[in-house]
Amino acid sequence: MGELLRSIDWTDTPLGPPDVWPSALKQTVSMMLGTTFPVLICWGKDYIQLYNDAFDFIIGVAQQRRVAGQSARKTYAKIWNDLKPVIEDVMKGQTVGFPNFMVRLNRNGHSEECYFDFSGSPIREDDGNIGGILLICAETTEKMRAVEEVAATNEEFMASNEELESANEELAAINEEVATANHELIETQRDLQRSNMALAESEARLKMAIDATQLGTWDYITVNAELYRSEECDSIFGLSAGKSTGFEEFSNRIHPDDRENVFRAFQASLSAHKANRHNLNCRILRFDDNAMRWVSLRWTAYFDTGRKATRLTGTLVDITETKLAQDSIARNEKFFRSIALNIPNSLIVVIDKDHRYVLVEGDLMDKMGYDRRDYEGKHPTEIGQTERYDASKHLYDRMMAGEKFSIERTTPTGENYMIHLVPLKDERGEVYAGMVMAIDITPIRQAEEKSAKLAAIVESSDDAIVSKTLESVITSWNDAAQRIFGYTADEIIGQTIYKLIPPDRQEEEPRILERLKKGERVEHFETKRLTKYGRLLDVSLTISPVKDTQGNIIGLSKIARDITEKKLEEQRKNDFIGMVSHELKTPLTSLNGIIQVANNKLKHSEDTFLAGAMHKANAQVKRMTAMINGFLNISRLEVGKMPIEKEPFDLNQLLHEILDETSLVVSSHKIIFRGSGPVVINADREKISSVISNLVSNAIKYSPRKKMVELGYQVKGNTVTVSIKDEGMGIKPQDLERVFDRYYRVETNDTRHISGFGIGLYLSAEIIERHGGKIWAESEIEKGSTFYFELPLK
Ligand code: ADP
Repeated sequence: MGELLRSIDWTDTPLGPPDVWPSALKQTVSMMLGTTFPVLICWGKDYIQLYNDAFDFIIGVAQQRRVAGQSARKTYAKIWNDLKPVIEDVMKGQTVGFPNFMVRLNRNGHSEECYFDFSGSPIREDDGNIGGILLICAETTEKMRAVEEVAATNEEFMASNEELESANEELAAINEEVATANHELIETQRDLQRSNMALAESEARLKMAIDATQLGTWDYITVNAELYRSEECDSIFGLSAGKSTGFEEFSNRIHPDDRENVFRAFQASLSAHKANRHNLNCRILRFDDNAMRWVSLRWTAYFDTGRKATRLTGTLVDITETKLAQDSIARNEKFFRSIALNIPNSLIVVIDKDHRYVLVEGDLMDKMGYDRRDYEGKHPTEIGQTERYDASKHLYDRMMAGEKFSIERTTPTGENYMIHLVPLKDERGEVYAGMVMAIDITPIRQAEEKSAKLAAIVESSDDAIVSKTLESVITSWNDAAQRIFGYTADEIIGQTIYKLIPPDRQEEEPRILERLKKGERVEHFETKRLTKYGRLLDVSLTISPVKDTQGNIIGLSKIARDITEKKLEEQRKNDFIGMVSHELKTPLTSLNGIIQVANNKLKHSEDTFLAGAMHKANAQVKRMTAMINGFLNISRLEVGKMPIEKEPFDLNQLLHEILDETSLVVSSHKIIFRGSGPVVINADREKISSVISNLVSNAIKYSPRKKMVELGYQVKGNTVTVSIKDEGMGIKPQDLERVFDRYYRVETNDTRHISGFGIGLYLSAEIIERHGGKIWAESEIEKGSTFYFELPLK
C-alpha cells in the first residue's frame, strides 16, 4: 500500500481498517498503487476517496490538502450537484469519460493550465454489486498544447491569410488608383495638348488681331532698362527694322508738349508697388521724317515680391487719323447736334473712319435704341451692337469710300426710316468721318398710303370730285370730272371754278363759300353747271370744307353728281302729270258747271234725296278739282311756270270764305275760327287760299277720331301768322323735318288708309317761300299738330 494510504487511520473512516475492506476494493487499490497513472477510487455510498501518489499530486495541487479517506461529496461539495448525476450513472454500471478536463496546476514553479482525460468506471464486488468508482486520469496537457499550438498557428495562419487578403485588396486598390492616376495623367496630357493648341490658336488670333489693328507691342525691363518692341511698334515710330534703340531715345521722340505728361504717368505706374494698368494718348515725332503722329499708349506695370517694378508691358497704336477726325468732328459737334435737335423725328450718328461712334444725337435715339452715353467714343462691337454693325458695315464702307446715298428701312414693327449716309470730307477732299442721318418717315408713308387709297377711291368714283382753294381755284380733278365736264385735269387745274358756273348762277359760289366758312356742309344742292362745250347739266352738289391739322379751312372739296338724266325723267313724269291733269280739268269743269246748274234747279225741289246727292257730288268735284289743281301746279312749278300774281286782299275774309266752304262739305269736324277784324295783305289770293285749304283739309284728314280744328291768325309787327291746329295723330320729330318734301308721306298704320300724294305741303311751302314768307309745323305724337305760315303784311 502506498505511503499516503498507509498514513491514514482507516479505522475512523466508514471503510474501517483495510483488512475488512471488501476484496474488490483491496484488489482495485493494489492495482491502483501499481500504476503510474493518477487513479482515484471513491468507495461506498459516501464515496470515500482513495488515490495513488500520482493523483495525490493533482489533488494536492488542486485542493491544497489531503482528502484521502474523506467523502468525495464533501470535497466537491461546491460542484456536487454537477458531479452527482455522472457519479450516479457510474454507480448504475455505466462507464463515463471527461476528455481534456482542465485543471490549473502549480507545476514547474508556476501555475499552468493542465488537461486530463478522466475515465470513470464502476468497481464491482464479488456479488456483482457496484461498490465504488474507479477514476483513471491521463494527462492530455501536451496534446492540448500541441492542439492549441496548431490552433494558434492556424489562427496565425488565418490571420496572416487575412492580412494577406487585405494586403492584396490594398494592392488592388492601389493598382486601381494607379490606373486612375494613369488615366488622369493621359487626360491631363490631352487637356494640356488641347489647351496648348487653343493657346496657339488664340495666340494666332491675337497676332491676327494685332496685325489687323496695326497694334504695336512693347516690353520694358526695368533692371537693365532694355526695351523690346514689335515691328509694328518701330514702324509707327518711323524706325527702320532691326535698328537697336533704347528706352531713352524713344522717350525723346515723345512730343515736347506731351513728354512731361507721359513721364508722370510712367512714374506713377512704377511707384504704385502693385500691378496696374494705364492708358493715355500723346503725340510723337517719328524718327525718320520727324512727322507728328498721335498714338494711344496702353500698358501694365508688373512687380516682384519685394514690390519692386520689374517691367512695363504695353501696346501702341497710331490714332492720328481718328484723332484728327475727332478734332474736326468736335469742332463741328455743336453744328451736328443742332441739326439733329432741329429736325423732328431724326437721329444723327457721326462715325469715324474706324466706324467708332463719335456723336449720337436726336429725338429718335430712344426709339432706335441708341444711348449717347454708351455709344460715344465706342466701336459698335465694343458695346454689343455686333448684329447691327454687321448689317450696316457695308454701308459705312461705301460712305467712307466717299459715296453719298440714302436708303429706306422698314422695321419689323412697321416704322419707316429714311437713312442718309453722308461722307464728311476735310479741306483736301478726304473723308475723315461719316454722318448717318435717320428720319422717321412713318407718318409720311402712312399719309401717302392713305392718300393713295383715297386717290383710288376718287379715281374710281362715278361722281366728279373736285377740290378748290378758298379763292375758288381748282386744285384737283378726277376722271369722272373730266367725263362729266369735258375738261382734262391739265386744262382745268389752276383755273377758276367759275368756268363751270352758268352766268345766271354765278352768285351761288359766294353763297356756298359763306355757308362753308361757318363750318356747314352743303348737301345735295341741286343746280345747273356748264360743260366745256357749253351744255347745261343738272347737278347735285355736296360740298365740304378741307381742314388742316389745326382745323383751319384751307380749301373745299366738291362732289358733283350729274342728275341731268334724272331731271329729264322727272320732267317727263311731270309733263305727263300736267297733261293728264290738264285733260282731266276740261271734263271736270263741265261736270262742275252741270252740278252747279242742277243744284240751282234743285233748290226749290221737294226731292230731298236728289238735293242731298247733288250736294255730295258738288263736294267730291271740289276735292277732285283741288287735287288736279295740285298736280297742275306741281308740273308748272317744275318748269318754273307758277307765277305769283299779288293783289291786296283781306286775309280775314278769305279765312271766313274757306271756313264756310269747308263747313258746307265737312260735317265730321267742328272748325273754330279765331279772327279779329280785317288784315290786308299783298299776295296771290288764289294760291294762299289753296295753302289754307290744304292745311285745313290735312287737319281734318289726320285727326279722324277728334272733332276740333282751330283756325286763327296773329299780327305781329309787319307780319301775319296764320295757324291751323288739330288734335289728331301728330307727327314724329324725324318726319316733321320732311313733310314739306315733295311726295313725302308718313307711313304708319294710321296713315296707310288715308289717301294722298304727298304734294300738298310741298306746294304750300313753295307758294309761301315765293311770297317771301315762312312755313313750319309743331307737333306732338297722339296730341295733335299746328301748322303755321307767316307772310309779310305789305
Ligand atoms: P298728303 O296728300 O299725303 O296729305 P301732304 O303734303 O299734304 O300730302 O302731307 C304730307 C304728309 O304730312 C302727310 O302724308 C301726312 O303724313 C303728314 N301730315 C300733313 N298734315 C298733317 C297733320 N295735320 N297731322 C298729321 N300728319 C300730317
